[in-house]
Amino acid sequence: MSALPWRNPARVAALEAALAARILVIDGAMGTMIQRHELEEADYRGERFAEGYDALFTADGHAHGAGCGCHPQDQRGNNDLLSLTRPDIISSIHRDYLAAGADLVETNTFNSTSVSLADYHLQHLVRELNREGAALARAACDEAEARDPSKPRFVIGVLGPTSRTGSLSPDVNRPGFRAISFDELAEAYREATHGLIEGGADVLMVETVFDTLNAKAALFAIDDVFEALGKRLPVLVSGTITDASGRTLSGQTAEAFWYSLRHAQPLAIGLNCALGAKDLRQHIDVLAQVADTHISCHPNAGLPNAFGGYDETPEDMASMLHEFATSGLLNLVGGCCGTTPEHIAAIVQAVDGIAPREIPRLEGAA
Ligand SMILES: [Zn+2]
Ligand SMILES: [Zn+2]
Repeated sequence: MSALPWRNPARVAALEAALAARILVIDGAMGTMIQRHELEEADYRGERFAEGYDALFTADGHAHGAGCGCHPQDQRGNNDLLSLTRPDIISSIHRDYLAAGADLVETNTFNSTSVSLADYHLQHLVRELNREGAALARAACDEAEARDPSKPRFVIGVLGPTSRTGSLSPDVNRPGFRAISFDELAEAYREATHGLIEGGADVLMVETVFDTLNAKAALFAIDDVFEALGKRLPVLVSGTITDASGRTLSGQTAEAFWYSLRHAQPLAIGLNCALGAKDLRQHIDVLAQVADTHISCHPNAGLPNAFGGYDETPEDMASMLHEFATSGLLNLVGGCCGTTPEHIAAIVQAVDGIAPREIPRLEGAA
């Protein structure tokens, strides 16, 4: 990782001071909160995308009109598009998490890469969605911080895993086949990173990593952008364990995951999603022993039930994470799928006053 100066040294200093003083709390799920609004296709489309495509854009420069040949595309479920079409909802979700006591909020950009947006024929929106998503989180954080300057609030610019894996074939009959190349992934992440930084993210998080090669492409792209800007932001990396064997989808244990990414010198390494706190504990424990950086953990509210919902109550989750904290495993903690502002408020209480994990000085560490 480059030795470039911080883009915003005062913000980084505030974050490092907060990390040294206490366990910081990350917000909870965006998708779960969006579901509560029971939005319809028309909500997702808003005015600009009323026809099912972008009224402001065509790839070939033609003017949209009757019979122009553009086909409507369903947008329901394209949650990131709501940053443009229902920014009021996204802002209110950020505000609810900040009111619950979150120190950091994640941008509504999990799927804002060209790879994921291609499913909605909106891959031209990558930069705009990342910029606007970060700007909404920035405004909500600035508002909360203005009310209580003693508690700084940080924007995590989220880079999701995309729907493609760089190191695995989606076709069991063609194990050598790759649906996407390293260079294509890196290009997708470069554009997203530019947008997040323009929108005012304090840090970047490569999140829900199930394929380490995708994370490497993201970190490579982030470095490229930093080089281009001559400035850098702190970077957090959070993987996901997809099955009971305790490995990521690309087959790594938590320990191997750390050793393959530590060269990037992330501000934090952690795990999120897929499992609840109970099943993540042993893997967080391993990371906490081997990683000479901060540890983050934002689990789901338990394992999904038969209906795809999540059953752990705020109290369930908070009591488990309280134990993580008293065992010295945590620097950052929050919630993933199924968590709500009520979960985050309970977690804030559960870790309040407990010392953050001390970063180990490892023998022979570079
Ligand atoms: Zn058209
Ligand atoms: Zn999740």
